[in-house]
Amino acid sequence: MKCDELVNYLSDYIDQNLDEDLREDAQEHLATCHNCRVVLDTTQKMIFLYRQNGRRGIPAERRGELFSRLQDAFQARQGE
Ligand SMILES: [Zn+2]
Repeated sequence: MKCDELVNYLSDYIDQNLDEDLREDAQEHLATCHNCRVVLDTTQKMIFLYRQNGRRGIPAERRGELFSRLQDAFQARQGE
């Protein structure tokens, strides 16, 4: 699995909606990729904050925004 794939699956990974195979791939990638662990951490914190504010989750719209921003950050970093 590559970073951009992981970012695509991240939301489902956090929600534990991934197939077992994909989840294992994601875990394998997270074990070796520092960037993705940071992204996972940030995303989980964001979801936690949303839930603390009495929301059940990040609305799909906001999620899309978040993930496209994360993907931009990845691409910028990979270009370095
Ligand atoms: Zn990665």
